[in-house]
Amino acid sequence: MLNLVLFGPPGAGKGTQSANIIRKYGLIHLSTGDIFRFNIGNKTELGQLAKSYIDKGQLVPDEVTINMLKSEVNKHVNPKGFIFDGFPRTKVQAEALDEFLAEKDAKVAGMIALEVPEDELKERLRKRAIDSGRTDDANPEIIANRISVYNNETAPVKVFYNAQDKLHKINGLGGIEEITDAIIETIESLKD
Ligand code: AMP
Repeated sequence: MLNLVLFGPPGAGKGTQSANIIRKYGLIHLSTGDIFRFNIGNKTELGQLAKSYIDKGQLVPDEVTINMLKSEVNKHVNPKGFIFDGFPRTKVQAEALDEFLAEKDAKVAGMIALEVPEDELKERLRKRAIDSGRTDDANPEIIANRISVYNNETAPVKVFYNAQDKLHKINGLGGIEEITDAIIETIESLKD
């Protein structure tokens, strides 16, 4: 299994790049944000709970998110691997993922961290709100909150993978294809 963590602040281009990477490597794309939005759309209990956090730009509690992630992974039989997009977002989630994969004799091969300056992120999110209809993209205060949650709670996840020598930083500014190429080059270096 080739398991990758795609990491970056909101608006860094995780969704766009995931689409390009799964096409090339046949990986399963697992975005916790997408799964929450799916549940919100279907008005499930999980969706209602998640919405109360997402609408404020806060993280959904670890236990809820980790259990959801595990059950999504377990839906797949003999997967080639996963690209985790938007997960793990806290150190607790990162530890839980390592433990969970170890039970399956698997591991995270590497974290690909897209780096984009904050001003550019705000501008991208403002533009995305017009097309995506995402309520959490539309309000500057919620965006600011998401970026501050990222800096305080999520950025330490980079330190976690760096300590395992698994952190690979990629410049998230530039053309989409150029960034995809840089990611592919990193993935090639991670394959056994
Ligand atoms: P995203 O689509 O990845 O930007 O996620 C949208 C929102 O879903 C985030 O702002 C969080 O409120 C919630 N969310 C997504 N992934 C996670 C996670 N791994 N842990 C906690 N909350 C999450």
